Amino acid sequence: MSVYVALWDCPTCSHVGNLGPHTNCAACGSPRPKKVHFYLPENPIIVENEEEIAKSLAGADWICGHCTAHNKAWETICRACANPRSEDSEDVTIEEKEYEEGEVPVTGKVKRELNANELAHVREKAAPSSKRFLWLFPIIAIAIFALLFFWKRDGEVSVAAFEWERETEMLHNEIVQKETWDLPSEAMNVSSFQAIHHYNKVFVRNETRYRTVQVPAGTERYACGKVSKGNGYFRTKYCTRTIYKNKQEPYQQAIYMDVPVYSKKYRYSIWEWVKKEPIRASGKNQSPEWAKPSVDDMNKWKEGDKKAKYWVIVKDNEEKLHKEEIKFELWQKMKKNDKLPALVQGVTGTYKGLNLKE
Ligand SMILES: [Zn+2]
Ligand SMILES: [Zn+2]
Repeated sequence: MSVYVALWDCPTCSHVGNLGPHTNCAACGSPRPKKVHFYLPENPIIVENEEEIAKSLAGADWICGHCTAHNKAWETICRACANPRSEDSEDVTIEEKEYEEGEVPVTGKVKRELNANELAHVREKAAPSSKRFLWLFPIIAIAIFALLFFWKRDGEVSVAAFEWERETEMLHNEIVQKETWDLPSEAMNVSSFQAIHHYNKVFVRNETRYRTVQVPAGTERYACGKVSKGNGYFRTKYCTRTIYKNKQEPYQQAIYMDVPVYSKKYRYSIWEWVKKEPIRASGKNQSPEWAKPSVDDMNKWKEGDKKAKYWVIVKDNEEKLHKEEIKFELWQKMKKNDKLPALVQGVTGTYKGLNLKE
């Protein structure tokens, strides 16, 4: 256990840092206030002297109800007015206070008067200055630049040319080899064999394993804060807590095995429509058509899904060409030299895309 010397501040003359055990202000001689606030500075004096340690633990100081003088615990009559200490009178014992670590007060309640130098510094900081908002100008400049950069307005382009591309998926009817669990009625050349259908988890045995658990193993005392003794000293505060130790604890782990389950699987041939390379047609005009299959035996071929893309090539006011994909319904109604609404950059007028209402 350690004992520390506390400090207190004088509210009468604002003197800071009176030694805790002193019952009168070192500057003005006033007695400690009735509700004295003891605190511990960052590097407090540690009491080493056995006699002083004993005094610090003797108990809290008491304040005389007749004259408000502060007296030590072992004093039985007031040192100022000589009235005896009494439980019936207005005598007050200063309270002990417990603090958690980190909550021990480190300053007094009296604010120190600022000296002339410090006062000047504070005034300078608070003074308004025209330079305070200078940092805003680059931010405003960047914001205006960004607004102009992203600003788009309505413009106009003219239709210069058309393009299209059409694609047809081709399917070929052919015999394919297959393996399945269920046999379709159109299957040919059927054979069967045993194959693994799935696995079953089967219990084999229980195995004893060990895991680490924490069990209580008694208690320990540790420093958990400080106690203000009510006499100008603080001492270490102690708390107790449970300590734990690791223990190996056995448990049963079930062990399983994967056992394959066999079933009858079929191998067979079957006629199927199989996807082949699609056929494509494209052009730079406004007369789209679907590609014609160039195969002899149309019994063995058929057409599948169809896809198409249509583009309009527009000319902007800087004579630059832009290729835009659009819907067929709009595309087929357009004519060369038609004017189309577009979006252009607000400042430079550069083309940024079509603005068609659908
Ligand atoms: Zn004072
Ligand atoms: Zn007294």
